[in-house]
Amino acid sequence: MYPAQFDYQKAATVDEALALMAANPDLKILAGGHSLLPAMKLRLAQPPALLDIWGIEELKGIRREGDVFVVGAMTTHAEVLRSELPLFPEVAHEVGDPMVRNRGTIGGSLAHADPSADYPAAALALGVEFVIRGPQGERAVPADEMFLGMFESAVGPGELLTHLRVPARVRASAYEKFKHPASHYAIVGVAVVRHLDGQIRAAYTGAGEKAERLTRLEARLNGGQPAGTGLVEAAQLLGDRFASPEYRAHLVDVLAARAAARV
Ligand SMILES: Cc1cc2nc3c(=O)[nH]c(=O)nc-3n(C[C@H](O)[C@H](O)[C@H](O)COP(=O)(O)OP(=O)(O)OC[C@H]3O[C@@H](n4cnc5c(N)ncnc54)[C@H](O)[C@@H]3O)c2cc1C
Repeated sequence: MYPAQFDYQKAATVDEALALMAANPDLKILAGGHSLLPAMKLRLAQPPALLDIWGIEELKGIRREGDVFVVGAMTTHAEVLRSELPLFPEVAHEVGDPMVRNRGTIGGSLAHADPSADYPAAALALGVEFVIRGPQGERAVPADEMFLGMFESAVGPGELLTHLRVPARVRASAYEKFKHPASHYAIVGVAVVRHLDGQIRAAYTGAGEKAERLTRLEARLNGGQPAGTGLVEAAQLLGDRFASPEYRAHLVDVLAARAAARV
């Protein structure tokens, strides 16, 4: 299948990308292309013009600044997998296949906010901060305010997710996933992190319209209780031909117990 016709531009710097987007509101950012291009080929998305940010060096790589890792949005899943970041390497290992991991980016995945993507649960459990630049300058968005709905993140029109700020050290972390056998997307994924102060944050992905904190699990584990069951209501989850809402709720319980046992 071929996408509809589109114009193509490239940016070499963040400033250039922002200027091009300000001049042309129709421009759609192209990062690794592993979510956008399949959607264009299926004609689910028909952007009239793409802005390729693959060549922007300042958006690539991971560096440590004291207690945080600064992760460029254009860091590929394969680079995340080989990194010393907490939790994210385990998550990146679960993303797609080697071809997807060599080209897809952590920023592309998180900006895209696919309800079945793996990273959003990890970002919520880690308490990542997102740095977004746009015409009004730079703003920092906490993980809890990043995922707004199905395929909807806090990155607005004309804005670029430039990097993530990830806590450099946590006591323990775990990601457990029940994957779609063909695509490897999460039917359900659960991330649990024990932070340096001993407090636990947890989140799930794949089950609802967006990744969410698992507040019942957090309350139980932080209160010294076992993970238990009934962590989410089936009524708030999605059902499709792969899994009903009730089955997804069951998977959340099972995966949460497994992840909790590892932290
Ligand atoms: C076969 C296959 C299997 C996959 N399996 C999984 C899986 O198991 N788990 C999983 O989580 N994902 C999976 N994916 C998705 C993959 O992880 C993508 O790489 C990722 O979702 C998007 O990243 P990208 O760099 O490819 O972004 P693109 O596809 O280039 O862009 C995605 C969207 O984000 C926007 N965008 C990209 N970067 C930025 C930025 N810096 N600032 C603002 N907006 C931006 C784009 O405009 C576009 O709307 C799979 C994909 C394929 C093709």
